[in-house]
Amino acid sequence: MIDFEIRPSDHPTPEAERDAMLRAPGFGQVFTDHMVTIRWDAERGWHDARLEPYGPLTLDPATTVFHYAQEFFEGLKAYRQDNGSIVMFRPEANAARSNSSARRMAMPELPEETFIRALELLVTQDRDWVPQAEGNSLYLRPFMIATQRGLGVNHPSSQYLFCVIASPAASYFAGGVKPVTVWLSEDYTRAAPGGTGAVKCGGNYAAAFTAQRQAVEQGCDQVVWLDAAEHRWVEEMGGMNLFFVYGKDRIVTPGLTGTLLPGVTRDSLLKLAPELGIAAEEGRISIGQWQEQCASGELTEVFACGTAAVITPVGKVKGEDREWLVGDGAPGPVSLRLREELLGIQTGRHTDHFNWIHKVC
Ligand SMILES: *Cc1c(COP(=O)(O)O)cnc(C)c1O
Repeated sequence: MIDFEIRPSDHPTPEAERDAMLRAPGFGQVFTDHMVTIRWDAERGWHDARLEPYGPLTLDPATTVFHYAQEFFEGLKAYRQDNGSIVMFRPEANAARSNSSARRMAMPELPEETFIRALELLVTQDRDWVPQAEGNSLYLRPFMIATQRGLGVNHPSSQYLFCVIASPAASYFAGGVKPVTVWLSEDYTRAAPGGTGAVKCGGNYAAAFTAQRQAVEQGCDQVVWLDAAEHRWVEEMGGMNLFFVYGKDRIVTPGLTGTLLPGVTRDSLLKLAPELGIAAEEGRISIGQWQEQCASGELTEVFACGTAAVITPVGKVKGEDREWLVGDGAPGPVSLRLREELLGIQTGRHTDHFNWIHKVC
């Protein structure tokens, strides 16, 4: 494996200042003292791997990423467990997804062990930044950008930078399990077949901000994306996957058609639910079914899931000419139970039968 040069900061954040930030970290607002960088070029492959002080990158204005958005990112968390050790949740899954993003964006793959080593080095160095408070964690943001200088559009960049930064995080949606109201986006499309919907690339987010703003104008919290062809089949919600709950013992999530992001949380729930006696399936749910099955009482809960917010209940759905409640609009028992079970594994309160926990230090 590539050797990392370790260059610790000579002016880390003073303890009192850090503790103040950790008391109310918000999400993605404050960053730790260090970052990891690794460079790639066509002759040398991956080289110059470093742990170094967190700080600005200097890039030429003609750098490929600024013009053609050749980049992708990842997101996972490190948790302080009740016994004091610091762990990551399924970093192997993020390493694998990172490489599938790299392939789709014509970027170089990073060996999975190097990806995980980079995370381990950063978390170990900045271990004092992993929050103590229940529900809080250290959010890790690996990303890769194209760094070749030049405006030619006929080939991918010949140089790349892989970087990992870390940010202490409170639970993503303030208030924890407060249900969200979602807006059915009928004017905009997030992803089409053959596009980049299954890849965690920034371009998907850039194209979504207008729809997200529309959702807020409609008094909603988040956008629900429908399929590009018929605007009928439910795909996902903002940056999270969706699950539909039928009674006490069955959950269904939209299948991985290539236009939605294969979430690690989604995959974990598909594996965890059956252990709890809840059948978990991939399927296809139309907007019409969502509304009718809520009316008939067959569909009892809907929730969104992702690393940042874990599980967030959907309480109400709004579209151009319709509006309905899911159940009574309050968080349902199946959503809350799955949330508690998953958080239990992440914090070490529950046994990790799946070997999802990766101890760092
Ligand atoms: C990251 C992401 C998710 C959730 O993935 P997790 O691995 O569970 O965090 C879902 N949808 C989109 C669009 C995302 O970017």
